[in-house]
Amino acid sequence: MDYTKQIQEIAAKLFAENKIDVFVGYRMNGFDDNQVPVLVTGANDVSKLVFTDKSVFNLVNYLKTEHTRRKRVGLVVKGCDSRSLNLMLTESQVKRENLYVVGIACEGVTDDAGQKMQNCTDCMVPDAVAFDELLGTPSGSPTPSGSPTPSGSMTPSGSMTPSGSQTLTYKMNADVAALAAMPLTERATYFEEVFENCIRCNACRHSCPLCYCAKCCIDQETATLYNGANTTSAAFHALMTWSLHLAGRCVDCRNCEKACPSHLPLHLLHKQNESVIYENFQEHLAGVIADDRGAFYKYSLKDPDDFIL
Ligand code: SF4
Ligand code: SF4
Ligand code: SF4
Ligand code: SF4
Repeated sequence: MDYTKQIQEIAAKLFAENKIDVFVGYRMNGFDDNQVPVLVTGANDVSKLVFTDKSVFNLVNYLKTEHTRRKRVGLVVKGCDSRSLNLMLTESQVKRENLYVVGIACEGVTDDAGQKMQNCTDCMVPDAVAFDELLGTPSGSPTPSGSPTPSGSMTPSGSMTPSGSQTLTYKMNADVAALAAMPLTERATYFEEVFENCIRCNACRHSCPLCYCAKCCIDQETATLYNGANTTSAAFHALMTWSLHLAGRCVDCRNCEKACPSHLPLHLLHKQNESVIYENFQEHLAGVIADDRGAFYKYSLKDPDDFIL
C-alpha cells in the first residue's frame, strides 16, 4: 500500500486551485521508517507527504486543533479514521464544506516489527466511508444488517459506496474474549495491575478525535470528580469514565493506545463496550453510516436491559 505519489499530486492540485489552506497528512519521522502527522500549508511542501502501511495515526484528531479550525482542510482517512470523521460531522464539530477528504481503501497498517496491527486484523470496515476521492481498490466492506448503506462522502466527487450487499459478521476481539473467560477475581486482579501503570497523563484522551470537550471531566488539572490524584483508584475511575464517553463512538483506530506512554491495552475497554453495544443496540457500529447518531440515541423500550447492572 503506497499512495505517496497520488497524495502529493492531490495536495498540490488543491493548493494550486486555492481550495485548501492546509493539508493534514503523514511524513517520515526522519530517523527510522516510521511516520508522524504533518500539516502542510503550501504547494512547496507537498513533497513531504507520504502514505504507506506505516501511516498509522488517525489524522481526524487534527481537526480539533486551532491549526485547522475555521480553515479549509485537506486530509487523508483510512476506514477507521473516516468513521471518526463521520462522527465529528454528525456531532457538528467540523463542517463538511471546509474539508477535502482523500479516502483510502485500506489494506492495514503495521507496527514497529512490521506486523499488521491487531485492529487491522480485526477490521470490519477497511474502506473509507467518507471521502471526496478514494485511493485503492475497495474491498466492499460489509455493512451492519438492517442499516442503510453508507453513502460515501456527504458531497462526493467520484465516490465509492461500500457494497452493503454483505451482512457484517461481528469480529469478537480475541483479548476481550480471553478476558471474558477468566474468573471474575482473576479479571479484577488483571485490571488492577493494568490501571496501576496509568500515570494519568491523559495522552489517551487528547489523542482521540472524539474527545474534543473544551473542559474534560477527567483532565488531571480540571477534574473535580477525580481530584487529580495519581492513584490506581483515580486512574480506574477516570479511564472507565473515559471509555463510557466513547461507548458507541469508538472506531478502534487505536490512536489512544499508540499515544499511551505506559502501553496500556486500552482497546480492552473500548472493544468490550463495542461488542456489548453491537449485540444490544441494533448492531450499532460507530460512524459507519453518515449522519448516524451514537448508539444511545437509538434507545428503544424494546432494548434488552438484562446486561445492565
Ligand atoms: S483498522 Fe482497518 S481501516 Fe483502520 S488502519 Fe487498520 S485496516 Fe485500515
Ligand atoms: S478511544 Fe482510542 S481507539 Fe477509540 S476512537 Fe478514540 S482514539 Fe480511536
Ligand atoms: S473523556 Fe469525556 S469529557 Fe473528556 S473529552 Fe472525552 S468525551 Fe469529553
Ligand atoms: S495515556 Fe496511558 S498512562 Fe496516560 S492517562 Fe491514558 S492510559 Fe493512563
